[in-house]
Amino acid sequence: MTHPTRYEHHIGGTAVPPSGGEYFTSTNPATGKALYEAARGNAADVDRAVAAARAAFDDPRWRDLSQTRRGHLLRRLGDLIGEHADELAEMESLDNGKLLREMRGQMAALPEYYHYYAGLADKIQGDVIPTSDRRVLNYTQREPLGVVGAITPWNSPLTLTTSKLAPALCAGNTVVVKPSEYTSATVLRLAQLVDEAGFPPGAINVVTGYGVEAGQPLVDHRGLAKISFTGSTATGARIAASAASRFIGTTLELGGKSPNIIFDDANVANAAMGVVAGIFAAAGQTCIAGSRVFAQRGVYDELLERVTDRARTIRVGDPLLSDTELGPLAFADQRDKVAGYVDLGRSEGATVLTGGRPTDGGGLGGYFYEPTVLTGVDNSMRVVREEIFGPVAAIMPFDTEDEVAVLANDTDYGLAAGIWTSNLSRAHRLADRLEAGTIWVNTYRAMSPMSPRQGFKNSGVGIEHGVESMKEYTRLKSVWINTSEEPVADPFVMRS
Ligand code: NAD
Repeated sequence: MTHPTRYEHHIGGTAVPPSGGEYFTSTNPATGKALYEAARGNAADVDRAVAAARAAFDDPRWRDLSQTRRGHLLRRLGDLIGEHADELAEMESLDNGKLLREMRGQMAALPEYYHYYAGLADKIQGDVIPTSDRRVLNYTQREPLGVVGAITPWNSPLTLTTSKLAPALCAGNTVVVKPSEYTSATVLRLAQLVDEAGFPPGAINVVTGYGVEAGQPLVDHRGLAKISFTGSTATGARIAASAASRFIGTTLELGGKSPNIIFDDANVANAAMGVVAGIFAAAGQTCIAGSRVFAQRGVYDELLERVTDRARTIRVGDPLLSDTELGPLAFADQRDKVAGYVDLGRSEGATVLTGGRPTDGGGLGGYFYEPTVLTGVDNSMRVVREEIFGPVAAIMPFDTEDEVAVLANDTDYGLAAGIWTSNLSRAHRLADRLEAGTIWVNTYRAMSPMSPRQGFKNSGVGIEHGVESMKEYTRLKSVWINTSEEPVADPFVMRS
């Protein structure tokens, strides 16, 4: 399959060259070689994109489109994505180094997101509110917000963009996306498919470029009605401050340091697979990575042996090959960050049971890092407290349920948690007690468009997926109508 070697912004339904005339290079992380160049966006490009999105929002072809028709467009978009799934999966794998078979799985699931919100589009409605005077009608209507800014990271570019785009369009907004500078290609291709599906030009606009040059002007733009961001907690904090100064809403999906807890009564073979899936899938570059593994004393040795044995046999290499199990980190700095954390762990006193070194992926030349297991660690160490975003598991023993509940919650983050046990009562108790927005019992990394996701604590603000997510892209108006012709009885007294 051949892919373009140069990309422009996508604004108002057309390819628009960067106003500064500059492009930046995106590399294939498996080889370290240049893949394509993309427009290097700046504030002027963002202005243009927000104006196009505003024009589309005010365009009667969009504003007056029935909710049912909006649903049809979303359904068509989902179908189109399904038809282009192979192309999108390969592009995404080349761009961020994740396994082609994982990206194929994500692309196969992507249409479901648009189909889900297609079904929801004509169910957005207000209520009739009871009043104390039957002659007074009070109703609410749920309205779109306007232009939404969406800023996304590189680890699952299309899935994470979809988590914002599908509910935003479903609710009648228009969108400006700033994808990660490491993965611009598939989001630009998605924008073409949005247009092809029949959305009016400007319903989606994509400005590519660096965070400070293109992301920050978007975040600070006065034409935005909301910012929806997925990325690091540090960037999320800056975005929250900017949005707060203009009193606009945010949805923030941020970092994690999720606990994966294995009890003595668990099926240890399954739990070990769950640990491997939690931390080595996508080379650990997932916000929900189960990076802190707590194993109860009775199964600690067995679990450690199983996970370490599997880590040693993980096939590291070309993400396009069907038998590869671990691809590269997405860019050189990310590989160096992971290496730096493992070195820090060593200096903090951790034991590296397996892994612990960068590799070139068997001669490919890219940014690989061995699957790594750390022991001799505890909650006081930075490798256990901070998000590494790489294939590094910290495995720790514990004795009691109470103890592990405290240890698991002793983190700034609260994105997800895994529990492995055959004791249903314990699973319920702990699911209730853990401070995380998603809890998995005897599984890990499950996700669906129907199931709401929310980061607790420093892992985020607001909800993605499900009906609640659509509501985050609306505002609620309350309308009061006096249906009688009688004058107001006492103009100086409030009525209800
Ligand atoms: P990042 O914060 O560095 O960048 C994310 C996006 O923000 C990129 O598009 C970047 O260009 C942009 N950006 C950077 N600085 C900006 C600024 N000052 N103003 C506006 N935009 C700016 O994050 P990343 O390294 O790309 O992604 C990895 C992080 O994302 C991890 O912390 C991971 O946990 C998190 N993540 C969270 C979820 C979730 O659902 N909670 C999902 C995936 C990834």
